[in-house]
Parts: sequence; C-alpha cells; structure tokens
Amino acid sequence: MADLLVRFWGVRGSAVCPGPATVRYGGNTACVEVRCGERLIIFDAGSGLRPLGNALAGELVDADLFLTHCHLDHVWGLPFFEPCYVPDTRLRLWAGNLLPDLTLYEVFARLLGEPLFPGGLDLFKARLEFRDFVCGQTLHPHPGLTLRTGPLNHPNQATGYRLEYAGHAVAYITDTEHVAGALDDNVLALAHGADLMIYDCTYTEEEYPPNAGRGHSTWQQGVRLAEAAGAKRLAIFHHDPAHDDAVLDRITREAEAAWPGAIIAAEGLTLRLPLR
Ligand SMILES: [Zn+2]
Ligand SMILES: [Zn+2]
Repeated sequence: MADLLVRFWGVRGSAVCPGPATVRYGGNTACVEVRCGERLIIFDAGSGLRPLGNALAGELVDADLFLTHCHLDHVWGLPFFEPCYVPDTRLRLWAGNLLPDLTLYEVFARLLGEPLFPGGLDLFKARLEFRDFVCGQTLHPHPGLTLRTGPLNHPNQATGYRLEYAGHAVAYITDTEHVAGALDDNVLALAHGADLMIYDCTYTEEEYPPNAGRGHSTWQQGVRLAEAAGAKRLAIFHHDPAHDDAVLDRITREAEAAWPGAIIAAEGLTLRLPLR
C-alpha cells in the first residue's frame, strides 16, 4: 500500500508564541504537510509554512495548499515560503467560498499589497494558481486523491477537509466551535472512520465558557467527536498560545487517560499511516 505521511510544522492557533516555555511543542501557527506517495499536500499557510519551505530547499516543489480560511494565523506564512521565489515551483492554493465576491487571489493581493508587504505578489517567481471552490464540494486534485470538504462553525466561515488516499483518510478540522451538548454532523462526516482526525482543541472545557463565540473548540469535545465518528486517532491541534509546554504536558496526560487514541500535535511530529 502506498505511503501516507503527516508532518506537523505549526500547531498553534491565533498567534505565534516562540520562547523557552513553548520550545517542545513549538510556537508556529497552523501548517501540516501530508505526503501521498509522490504528492505534496499542505494544509494551511500559518507561520509553520516557513520552516516547511526551508526543508524543501533543493526539491522541485509541485504542491497543493488547502486553506481552511484566511484568518491571519492560517495565511501569513505564504510570503516566507521560499519555494514561492523559485521559478520552477508549481503551487496551487485552494479555498472554500470566502466572503461573497471575494476571490482567494484578491485576499492574497490585499494581504501582500503595499504597504503591508513590500513588492506584493509580483515578487513571487513561482507559478501560483488560486482555486476557489464551493465548500461542500468534493475535490479530485490528482488521480487517486480525494478531498471532501464541509463547512465549519467559525467567524467568516472555515472549511474542514477529509483527505482520502490509498484506502486511508485524514481529517483536518480547524478552526471550528462546537455547540455544547451536541455533535456537529459536518465534523462527524469528515472524520467518519478516519485514521487520523486533526481537530481544533484551542481550549480546555474549563477555559471554554468565557471564550464562547470565538470560533474554537476543546480537546474534550475532540474526544467525543472522534469516538462518535469512529476515528482511530485524534490529534489535539491549534493550541492556545497561552498553553505552554507544562500545560500541554498536562493536557496530553488527561487526554490520553480519557481516550487512548488521543495524541497531541507538536512541531516535528511525523505520523506514517496506517498508525499502529
Ligand atoms: Zn486559527
Ligand atoms: Zn480562524
């Protein structure tokens, strides 16, 4: 069976948080590399995209980058992705329907327009393609590779993904907020029987009430959803920048005790599917 490999380059939400207190889990924002055989898939372009780009030095990059949404913590890595400055790079950026009448190209033209970024999109030497789709569509970017998509509960909307390749499934579900006491059918569908469910676990259940409405969920809800969906593993992801290594160690212990399939995402964590 062909290889499916998942590597985490940025596991934070909201803000980068480098420093000695976060050195083990990492301080970069959302970016996950998935290798499907020869194919390179990237989820989100947070600050973790920069070290991923550095690791790709010398490799002819032909990649598909799927964005959950365009909040800054998921897009600000793009101008620091070195392959963007290599003429032979082919990079296809995908996003589910953003604001009405706003294309993905326009979002990046704004983000990288003067005076926010000197030089703008014209600095890029690579061939970039911006591909807007309607959230809910099933995407077939390459033979043998399917991405199912579904809407998440988040300000300005976000798109959840379910990547299927060689008989395996990885669900990438961030940023999303749950409704207390209910299980989100869209999330359950994306995570159904998945080998790995990567989920927005910004808060603990205790921290959640004062943060209700901000568009994020808890690791406890992640466990409920993973169990109900029959997912084999839950990767606790999109850590609150306020959660230092000591807090994340405690969350790891509690989550593993709550459900043996729980693992915590850390920068550099590499998983080869199927997990044993
Ligand atoms: Zn986020
Ligand atoms: Zn967001």
